Amino acid sequence: MIVDVHTHTPQYRDPVPPEQVVMQHAWRPDRAVKATVCWEEYLAAQAPAEKSIVFQIAWHPGEWEDRLSGQPAGDKSWYQRPDGRGNLNDATATFVRAHPDRLIGFMALHPHDAHCLDELERCRTELGLRGIKLGANYQNFDPLEPRALAIYERAQRYGLPILFHQGTSPVRNAPIRFAHPLLMDEIAARYPDLKIIMAHMGHPWQVDTCVVIRKHPNVYADISATFYRPFSFWEQLIKATEWNVLDKLLLGSDFPVATVQETIDGLRRVNQVVEGTRLPRVPEEAIEAIIHRDALALLGLG
Ligand SMILES: [Zn+2]
Repeated sequence: MIVDVHTHTPQYRDPVPPEQVVMQHAWRPDRAVKATVCWEEYLAAQAPAEKSIVFQIAWHPGEWEDRLSGQPAGDKSWYQRPDGRGNLNDATATFVRAHPDRLIGFMALHPHDAHCLDELERCRTELGLRGIKLGANYQNFDPLEPRALAIYERAQRYGLPILFHQGTSPVRNAPIRFAHPLLMDEIAARYPDLKIIMAHMGHPWQVDTCVVIRKHPNVYADISATFYRPFSFWEQLIKATEWNVLDKLLLGSDFPVATVQETIDGLRRVNQVVEGTRLPRVPEEAIEAIIHRDALALLGLG
């Protein structure tokens, strides 16, 4: 079973109109990324994953325009899609319902929304979304503030895993300190039954991520969007090897940033960067175990 725990809901059901195509050149050092995609492109990029977790992120109303397009902010509801076409969580649920055999949807929430817990209940009971995506740096909230803790408490109660964006990002007004992996230690200590996925192994603080997932049984890390920095990638997996946490690593693509096959190929090539040296190698069987790990069982979603 190959599971991709980290993908973003495509913005378009039908092929993206040419004038809406956005190419991102800063996301990866090795190639540009087509940031606007349709359902078909998403599904093609997910092969060979049998199951994929898919979600969006709830920007602060008004801020998405500032951040993504540079245009002045208008009046927005908390979960409005960037293009104004309805609610983020409805869009994810619609996509998941069209492909229930392949997709598991997580909800986007913003702890500063006064009705955030109502949206959580609606997503859980009406939309069938089975986890939560948060990115405190992008969403500009303190991960330890009471409004955020209220979400974790509810998530723990209902067995909703939370995937947190971790580590840096190129978004200028996203405070990096809100996504530092060591904060997860405090959250995991307060909510020991909460299932947490730390995205991107907390890049570039991968060793901090290793020590957090090492001590908390219900905290995992995904390796999404890390293989295309080959030296850092090798180093992070060697650190995971030495800290004995390779079994806590989950496969993720961060599509549209990368495809599942690219991510798998990157994993299998991890030792190439040290070929011909005496530097340690990531065990091949551990690499295959990451690729085939049943993340859904570990997250209580099986
Ligand atoms: Zn992502």
